[in-house]
Amino acid sequence: MKAYENFINGRFASSTNRNLIEVYNPASETQIATVPESSEDDVHAAVEAAEKAQVAWARLPAVQRGGYLHKIADLIRGKSEALARVISEEQGKPLGLARVEVGFAAEYLDYTAEWARRIEGEIVTSDRPNENIFVFRKPIGVVAGILPWNFPFFLMARKMAPALVTGNTIVIKPSEETPNNAFEFAKIVAESGLPAGVFNVITGRGASVGGALTSDPRVGLITFTGSVDTGSRIMAAAAVNITKVNLELGGKAPALVLRDADIDLAVEAIKNSRVVNSGQICNCAERIYVDRKIADEFTAKLCMAMEKVTFGNPLENEQVDMGPLINRQGFDKVAGLVAGAGRDGATILTGGKRGASAAGYYYEPTVLGNCRHDMEIVRKEIFGPVIPVVTFDGLDQAISYANDSDLGLTSSIYTSNINAAMRACNELKFGETYVNRENFEALQGFHAGWRKSGIGGADGKHGLYEFMHTHVVYLQYSGASDA
Ligand code: NAD
Repeated sequence: MKAYENFINGRFASSTNRNLIEVYNPASETQIATVPESSEDDVHAAVEAAEKAQVAWARLPAVQRGGYLHKIADLIRGKSEALARVISEEQGKPLGLARVEVGFAAEYLDYTAEWARRIEGEIVTSDRPNENIFVFRKPIGVVAGILPWNFPFFLMARKMAPALVTGNTIVIKPSEETPNNAFEFAKIVAESGLPAGVFNVITGRGASVGGALTSDPRVGLITFTGSVDTGSRIMAAAAVNITKVNLELGGKAPALVLRDADIDLAVEAIKNSRVVNSGQICNCAERIYVDRKIADEFTAKLCMAMEKVTFGNPLENEQVDMGPLINRQGFDKVAGLVAGAGRDGATILTGGKRGASAAGYYYEPTVLGNCRHDMEIVRKEIFGPVIPVVTFDGLDQAISYANDSDLGLTSSIYTSNINAAMRACNELKFGETYVNRENFEALQGFHAGWRKSGIGGADGKHGLYEFMHTHVVYLQYSGASDA
């Protein structure tokens, strides 16, 4: 069994707290590692190391900072198979998906490194004679990155790469469920020769370690991906020091299937979106609205597609489409929502129970019919392989159902009518809309939720500038002709 230690100031070191967090494989429910249940002292040490390293790091030319990211990306590619196994073992995703996650993390580092020569300020004309106004973009300082468990390795790259290329240093707190891959990432960082203190990883509980990190006045930006409830708690902690927050929170993505949609395409895309990572993705289709005229055909085909989905222990069978849910709590939430939907009048058309296996948190691919828009299962994030189907009459009703949610991360629409697609794109109130496809988002886009799905966003130019302050300089010169 592995025993990991915190990575602070370029060294692996044990916590001042002797308590350990046990890490389990959700496919077999067996313990695979221990990580520190860190103390507030560890948090202070990590923030201090990051603060001390930041000045020299920011003075390096950005292209040199990007060079380290390229090097880390190369090292990741060289260890991709081992990394994919670590991710799959603690998170439960199929190996093929874990390999994609590792490859995408490396690509994200390379992509972000290429921004080094493209970070731009502005020169603005002044109202005064003999004056220039410069808008500089500068690093914020120390960034705290708090991660969830669903795509932990990719999200590590999404937080640390833009932080570092723009001249910040970072302290990462991974999820208690998936800390192992974060320490494997830290080993690669150590191998890359990145200056000590620029990148730090500490593990611990959300309330204690996360709480200490988010209320530390030396932290200039908290970039968090996780649930709405935790995002709200982080905002409250950040409010004390008016710390900037960047929050990527939950989703309840509607998929609208119009009567002129390519039904086979819609079925395949929605099914894939719902079973990838066992439905534990912020931007996968969580509620389906289908035109009443095609509802029977669509739903029958969706059930057939979901019945073909295979699941099992991803390290024992590489071919499975789905692994388990992350833990007992995740399983109970999905099972509870399906049971509640039954009480509310929904019909289980396929699935609807625990997947047969000796151990592990497997849930069968499930389709629910006779759902209404006001049901809890249509309104609350499920985070499992369960698809509730609601029928609608007319585009107005479909758009109004879609927008009637306190979450506004992503949405999708299936139609062959350009007018309907364009109208929906203009009227849907979400950070992203996919037309005739489902997730994922592109690294050059901007992934940002509306309403309770978040504040700020990630990726592309807009994501990069989240990690920077502006500094406006007014430069008055004499203007004398003999100057
Ligand atoms: P979570 O909120 O339970 O935990 C996320 C992290 O926050 C963990 O590291 C946890 O230890 C930490 N934490 C908990 N309490 C804290 C506190 N008081 N202060 C500071 N940190 C604290 O979320 P999760 O279950 O790991 O992830 C699933 C959620 O993440 C889903 O809602 C999903 O939609 C969301 N998510 C969103 C995106 C996005 O891009 N919008 C991407 C992935 C996941």
